[in-house]
Amino acid sequence: MLLQRMSHAGHEQVIHFQDASSGLRGIVAIHSTRLGPSLGGTRFYPFASEDDALTDVLRLSEGMTYKAAVAGLDHGGGKAVIVGNPNALKSRDLLLAYGDVLESLGGSDISAEDLGITQDDMDVIRTRTEHVVGISPDNGGSGDPSPWTALGVFVAMRATLEHARHESDLAGLHVAISGIGKVGYSLARRAHEAGARVSVADINRAATDRAAQDLGASVVDVEEIHRTECDIFAPCALGAVLNATTIPELGCELVVGSANNQLAAHEDGERLAARGIVYAPDYVVNAGGLINVADERLGYDEQRVTRRVLAIEQTTAELLRLADDQNIVPAAAAQLLADKRLTN
Ligand code: NAD
Repeated sequence: MLLQRMSHAGHEQVIHFQDASSGLRGIVAIHSTRLGPSLGGTRFYPFASEDDALTDVLRLSEGMTYKAAVAGLDHGGGKAVIVGNPNALKSRDLLLAYGDVLESLGGSDISAEDLGITQDDMDVIRTRTEHVVGISPDNGGSGDPSPWTALGVFVAMRATLEHARHESDLAGLHVAISGIGKVGYSLARRAHEAGARVSVADINRAATDRAAQDLGASVVDVEEIHRTECDIFAPCALGAVLNATTIPELGCELVVGSANNQLAAHEDGERLAARGIVYAPDYVVNAGGLINVADERLGYDEQRVTRRVLAIEQTTAELLRLADDQNIVPAAAAQLLADKRLTN
């Protein structure tokens, strides 16, 4: 069964691990090392079942392959999950045992933080293995990736506007952001500074209050934000927000945001196109954070990171042109770009 699931998306390796004394249990999935060692985050999450954990790690590691390929990084896609509630189970011993697991893989997989794993945790894991990134600046790391992710999304907005309207300036436009957390806030600030009017929604009242106070943002209900009449809708919270129910209700002309897996299903790309809404594929526009952490492997250089993150504007423009030329949806064009790099 597992081998069947691995061959479905072409995973190279799936490794289960456990350490009885600390309670560590989890799975590392290496989807591809075609372009270099696989790179992705470690997610520490109370999965309802082992099958849910496996589904997540297989899906996420595959996505990382395409994200790294389109971003021009010499990395493949990998992901790890640790099963359990991090608030109850996480301990120094568990993190050290996890460091030993990564070390035993000999560098074929490099891991960074994801849900449930912090930079402080990465600093502990790092004491057992050098096959980690996303460590703190004090330890030679690259710091918080979120502002880089936001910068990439912002320049992708410019490229998408240029493609749709032959005008990349955000001044005077209306941007609606769902999820005003680390990436969403940084993106809102950039949009505001570029002269856009910003609307925000978040389940966290403190987050929307801050955006209203600092950026003059209008606050919208989380159930309403996608319906807001605006130029650009930026999903920056959950996945699967573009689906058969929400797409007919969208009030925007363009969708450009940081959330992973925004399309609930493959057909949602077609649904958006049928409504004349231009969707900039999530894994292309949100690669800034990955570019930032990957740079630690080269000896962190902020100028190189800036150059590479800004290049997301051109990559987005290229894929939107490709989509038009081939009469396919942008998500399919992104896949073509990834496949082109992976098969060269
Ligand atoms: P975050 O946790 O800092 O922010 C997420 C925000 O969304 C929080 O403020 C939360 O309260 C809010 N939220 C949760 N449910 C919501 C809902 N139903 N409606 C509206 N808001 C809701 O996370 P982040 O680091 O800003 O990441 C945001 C998204 O971007 C995630 O999907 C993440 O996977 C993706 N992403 C982040 C990075 C990065 O560098 N941080 C990189 C790539 C992709």
